[in-house]
Amino acid sequence: MHAIRIEQHGGPEVLAYRQVPVPEPAQGQVLVRILAAGVNFIDTYQREGLYQMTLPFTPGLEACAVVERVGPGVSGLKPGDRVAYASGRGSYAEYNVVDAAILVPVPAGVDDRAAAAVLLQGMTAHYLVHSTFPLQRGQTALIHAAAGGTGLLLTQLAKRCGARVIATVGTDEKAQLARQAGADDVIIYTREEVAPAVRKLTDGEGVHVAYDSVGKSTWEASLSSLRRRGMLVTFGNASGPVQPFAPLELMKHGSLYVTRPTLFDYTATRAELLERAGAVLGWVAAGELAVRIGGTYPMERAADAQRDLTGRKTTGKLLLLPG
Ligand code: NDP
Repeated sequence: MHAIRIEQHGGPEVLAYRQVPVPEPAQGQVLVRILAAGVNFIDTYQREGLYQMTLPFTPGLEACAVVERVGPGVSGLKPGDRVAYASGRGSYAEYNVVDAAILVPVPAGVDDRAAAAVLLQGMTAHYLVHSTFPLQRGQTALIHAAAGGTGLLLTQLAKRCGARVIATVGTDEKAQLARQAGADDVIIYTREEVAPAVRKLTDGEGVHVAYDSVGKSTWEASLSSLRRRGMLVTFGNASGPVQPFAPLELMKHGSLYVTRPTLFDYTATRAELLERAGAVLGWVAAGELAVRIGGTYPMERAADAQRDLTGRKTTGKLLLLPG
């Protein structure tokens, strides 16, 4: 089979398209054939070595796939079942061996590409608005990079909770997408300073929560946009990791809370995984959650996909298609 292999950390050029043996499922594992693999920012952190990996490896956490063969001790799955996962290893490939415990069923009303596109970022949006800072009707949320893969889903789910959404984006085209997803106000943060604009939009009050996937470059703006006792949910590093900060800063900005969550801690049990995946895929099947696929690439062009993602050129989700 073909797979992308990373033999050394580095830029997108280290993503090599190679011929490798089809892996064998061990105890509790399943061999799946990939229909579409999701491209996520975390793949670029693993490629660069910001997140530690053992070399060599095949990148990719997410896919929609068909069960090909089940290993010993696996029940409830059979060849031909359509499944999706968001915490695998090695989905940038034609075949992947994954633990049966991370697989979720894909409902008939969700096509392969939508399933691959929505699972990781949709469950992220789900835990952010329902568990990390449970958004209530009447509250206001600041959502950065709102036209991105996670941003578009997060904006829709925040609106679903009845909250007001102030979105930030880099361009006019992205502003239009954020509005279509339901954002009430959009700040183009490449041209306008965020915190003063947020104060103006909220009569000086500030927002209840800032969902910040951008990290380093928006940290200060997020802190300064919060109302008293608001929460900064810093969940990504698209512009680089947030620098160390003094807790006293939280006092100065109004007794703030900060959390740095990750999806894996919010899908740690099988029950929680099934609940979040079921909700997200169910909304997609019912036409209540729109999934924007901003680009598809043949698997061998994984480097171009990652280049476009980190180059701020994309909107919505990017997918890799095998074969
Ligand atoms: P996006 O599709 O949102 O792409 C990143 C966007 O960030 C860009 O399109 C750009 O939008 C914005 N951005 C701002 N500054 C920069 C910069 N210097 N370089 C690149 N992009 C920049 O990506 P994802 O939705 O896949 O992920 C966003 C972040 O969220 C990542 O850090 C990812 O790891 C994290 N994440 C965290 C999860 C968790 O559980 N903690 C789960 C899922 C994602 P614009 O042009 O509008 O500024």
